[in-house]
This record gives sequence, structure tokens and C-alpha cells, in this order.
Amino acid sequence: TLHLHYVPLREGGGKPVGALITIRDLTQISMLERARRDLVANVSHELRTPLASLKLLVETVQSAPPPDIASRMLEQMAQEIDAVTQLVDELHELSRLESGRVSLKLEPLPVWPVIERAVERIRPQADRKQQVICVEPAADLPLALMDGDRIGQVLLNLLHNAVKFTPEGGTITVAAEVLTLRDDEQPSRPDRPPHPAGTWLLIRVSDTGIGIPNRDIQRIFERFYKVDRARTRHAGGTGLGLAIAKHLVEGHGGRIWASSQEGHGSTFWFTLPAA
Ligand code: ADP
Repeated sequence: TLHLHYVPLREGGGKPVGALITIRDLTQISMLERARRDLVANVSHELRTPLASLKLLVETVQSAPPPDIASRMLEQMAQEIDAVTQLVDELHELSRLESGRVSLKLEPLPVWPVIERAVERIRPQADRKQQVICVEPAADLPLALMDGDRIGQVLLNLLHNAVKFTPEGGTITVAAEVLTLRDDEQPSRPDRPPHPAGTWLLIRVSDTGIGIPNRDIQRIFERFYKVDRARTRHAGGTGLGLAIAKHLVEGHGGRIWASSQEGHGSTFWFTLPAA
């Protein structure tokens, strides 16, 4: 968007001698304004659904149903409140990340303990769906320069999605390897975003789940982006998890990306600089 302002310059007698033209580039401002409007629209939309269910549940409990039904409804109310709380927490986290108010405590750390902690935390959810989690430890991995808590959070987000979007009995695999890149190797890999030359740790979380259509794969890291709401409606979730993961990984200087074959599974990759 360009904003153009024209002021004719005249002599005392009124004879035109020139003009003062100012052109302001409002592209940035209107993009920000648009992002702000989208955010407000998304947040209101995401809040409306749980609030509508809560309202309905409260009304039903007010009509004094049998005690077993009432207690089931109270249970559902607690779940809806959890969903709203998660949305507000994740929004807060994302806004802190976007405004640069999160400082990472970077230190040289081994990645396996961080991976194992995240896997142990997600295991109960995977067990409930009879899913197997395989970890493929590689030998002699270098230390990563990372904030262990934050990378744990990235892994949890990826594992949580893997469990959520994989049917019962599926398999989730977590692997890590070392990646040594020279500058001249970069163009030959269209499937991997370019990295500065150097040594990286490459971490992979893959699943045998529903997969992600090609047209959506670039966009899933945008905040609130969900693939096909109808298909995933019952899965719950805020659409913020991957946006948060992307911020955290890029804050470490790494990259995060995904590949998928619809109906067969998805793989998420991210890189961390070696210490
Ligand atoms: P959500 O809270 O909805 O999981 P995310 O930002 O974590 O939000 O993910 C965004 C969307 O990306 C999800 O709603 C889903 O459509 C898709 N997605 C993420 N991970 C997977 C996966 N492992 N398999 C299939 N789809 C996925």
C-alpha cells in the first residue's frame, strides 16, 4: 500500500512553480494491522466454541438432571475450561516469543536425556492408544547448544501431535543424527531448508498417522493453522503448538520443517547447532 500526498507550490501571484509530493509506504503498517485483525478474529473464534459448550452444559446441569448425568457434565465442563486455559497459556507464550521477551539459556547439552524425558512424559497418552514409541539413539552425537527445557517443550509439542494424529496401534519414532554441512552441499537438498555451513544435530519425530496434505504442509507452522477442521475437530488443540515450536527452534538458530504422505504418516524435523 502506497500513500501519496500532493501539495502544489505557488508563487505569491498564484503561479504554480512546483509541487511537494510525499509517498509513504504503508505496506508494513497495513500488514501489521491485518495480522492484528486476524489474531483478534481467530482468538474470538477459538474462544466461542468452548464457551458455547460451557453455556449449554451449565444450563443442562441447572435443569437438575439425574446425578450421574450431572457429574458427567461437570467433568465435561472441567475439560472445556482446560481447553480455554491452554489457549490462553499458549497465546501468552507465543506473544512473549514474538516480542522477544523470552531469553533462551543456551548451554552445551546432550540431546538424548532431553528426548527421553519428553518421550516418558508422552508415553501414558501413547499407551492409551496402544501406540509404540521407538527411540533410535545414534552413537557419538555431539552436544547441542540449547536451552534443554525449551527444546523439551518443542519435542513434547511434536510428540503430542504425533500421538493425536495417529490411530490406535500406530508407531511413533524419534531419532537424532549429526549433520555436517559445507556451503556447496546446500542446493542439492530441496527437501531441507538451507543452513549455515557447520555441524548440526538433526532430530526427527515421525508417525504412521493420517498425514498432512501437500498444500497445507508449508502453512501448519502459522499460528492457528489447522488442516481441515472437520477432520481434526475431535482432536482438539489450539493450532498454536507448531508456531511456538518454530519460534523456539529458530531462536536457537535451527530450522523446523515437515514432510508427509497423506494417509501414511508425517515426519517433523528440526536442527540445533552443535556446541
Ligand atoms: P494443534 O493444537 O491443532 O495440534 P499445531 O500447531 O500443533 O496445533 O498443529 C497445527 C496443525 O497441523 C494441526 O491442527 C494438524 O492439522 C496438523 N498436524 C500437526 N502435526 C501433525 C501430525 N503429526 N500428523 C498430522 N497432522 C498434523
